[in-house]
Amino acid sequence: MLLRDLIDHAAAAFESAGIHSAKVDAELLVGHVLGLSRGGVQAAAMAGRQLTDTEAEEITNVFGRRRARQPLQHITGVAYFRNLELKVGSGVFIPRPETEFVAQLAIDAMPETENSIAVDLGTGSGAIALSIATEVPTSQVFAVEKSEQAYAYTAANFAKYADSGAKLVLGDLADAFVELENQVAVVVSNPPYIPAAAIPRDVEVHLHDPDLALYGGEDGLDVIRLVSASATRLLMPGGALIIEHADSQSEQVVQLLLAEGWREVRAHQDLTARYRAVTAIK
Ligand code: GLN
Repeated sequence: MLLRDLIDHAAAAFESAGIHSAKVDAELLVGHVLGLSRGGVQAAAMAGRQLTDTEAEEITNVFGRRRARQPLQHITGVAYFRNLELKVGSGVFIPRPETEFVAQLAIDAMPETENSIAVDLGTGSGAIALSIATEVPTSQVFAVEKSEQAYAYTAANFAKYADSGAKLVLGDLADAFVELENQVAVVVSNPPYIPAAAIPRDVEVHLHDPDLALYGGEDGLDVIRLVSASATRLLMPGGALIIEHADSQSEQVVQLLLAEGWREVRAHQDLTARYRAVTAIK
């Protein structure tokens, strides 16, 4: 069978299943099976590459899983975030491209002083924590994750980037790191913030991302309140807090932080000009 035909067929099937990035996903899945980059897949398809029966069968199998709306990253087992290649799968939240700008806010807020401490509350795959740890070599990064299912992936990712010195604990962000109180330069979090009654649009999110990473109680702000309380005890005076939220929650999060006594509370837009993060100073 011609690789090109298989890809075209899958792209059409994905599109009718409601998948936005149909062609890209088909190429990435072929790359996963054949051990090729996406460019390599495109070149092979263009050159008229024929597939063996085994290859065609394996590719058809992964196409079937994607067509049933399993997330691409659960099938390939990897998610890319800034300079990181993270291990992901069922039970851990897949890091999103929009969170890359939240990591940037944290990186920019880190002082250059040697051993400045950053804490990532509810780290999931470790995306934000490991970005800071690898991109700010003078930093000392600590992260906490509550879900045991997620933690298996978090631990694998921290082991992969062990050279960065980032430290990970299994626990609750509400009472984590008592030993670091008043010593932290930056606290960052991408907490669950979807209101309990709101159902995410994408099937991949709704059925495959863990509920613990998605939902933040009735108004979606329960965990943001906990993050604010923990950051208050962890940060040194002048330390910075960075929180991701839904694009409809900017004003609520600003008001919540002002009411809790934070200074210099600012709303930030992501690359698509939506308000997706708030920063504040203790
Ligand atoms: N951003 C998530 C989503 O797109 C929501 C939860 C989160 O990031 N903390 O569904």
